[in-house]
Amino acid sequence: MHIRTPEQIVTAHRQVEGGGFVVRRPFPGEHVDFVDPFLLIDEMGPIDYRPGEAVGAPDHPHRGFETVTYVLEGEMEHEDSAGHRGRLGPGDVQWMTAGAGIIHSEMPSQQIREKGGRVHGFQVWVNLPRRDKLMRPRYQEVSGDKLPEGRSEDGKARAKIIAGEALGAKAVIDTRTPIVFQDWTVQPGADVTVPFAENLRMLAYVFEGEVQVDDKLVREGQLAILGAGEAVRLSGGASTARVLLLGGVPLREPVARYGPFVMTNRAELVQAFEDFESGRMGEITRTAEVR
Ligand code: MN
Repeated sequence: MHIRTPEQIVTAHRQVEGGGFVVRRPFPGEHVDFVDPFLLIDEMGPIDYRPGEAVGAPDHPHRGFETVTYVLEGEMEHEDSAGHRGRLGPGDVQWMTAGAGIIHSEMPSQQIREKGGRVHGFQVWVNLPRRDKLMRPRYQEVSGDKLPEGRSEDGKARAKIIAGEALGAKAVIDTRTPIVFQDWTVQPGADVTVPFAENLRMLAYVFEGEVQVDDKLVREGQLAILGAGEAVRLSGGASTARVLLLGGVPLREPVARYGPFVMTNRAELVQAFEDFESGRMGEITRTAEVR
């Protein structure tokens, strides 16, 4: 089987986002703008907030793509202009298709804001094909205990399957184009070769420990962009690795982005701003809370 080899290894930079939270971001950055169809990878934290310190991203719009939030530690609260609100705890995932537009807020939970606590997780932006950019917004939320998990025969490699399939497990989340989004744990001594469709572009971001991807060692905070092939080979390094394994079929369409909007040309971006400014993306209706 033809194994995919890392063609480029990008070290994530630290960046302050939203109301002031710190993320580790392999792209967009100095070296890589985006990897079609992925527009952004943010590792939020891990950060230990003291009481009153935690910040998030208050009300803001999105149009034209999807945001995937995957919580590893801590708790996030969200609410939006479609009247949807909820809470994500450790292991939970929210796959939000912004489509034509939503306005939402994403904050560490009230408990963490008031009493402090640890926050760690991911937000990944997945582009939508032009035909889906103005689709009706859609949410898919799956709690951690409902996420399918695959294991290698020796148990040294495991994968929580958010999108795609691997090690005999298949995702429950539905995506607009074929996507792989998996949280892998690879122990020292593990050695797995996993087939993925050849039309996928594959990425491996290591957020803990280190792992060998084909013939290259990839360390914490590094993203490997893999070349063509039929399979991804992961082997254990000196310490247990956590790897976010991503894959997508390149859309090969123009990308015009500005802040929270990702369209295919400038006129569509201008339209997005106008629709936002004039309230056509709605607003978050909040009822007064009794404290
Ligand atoms: Mn957002």
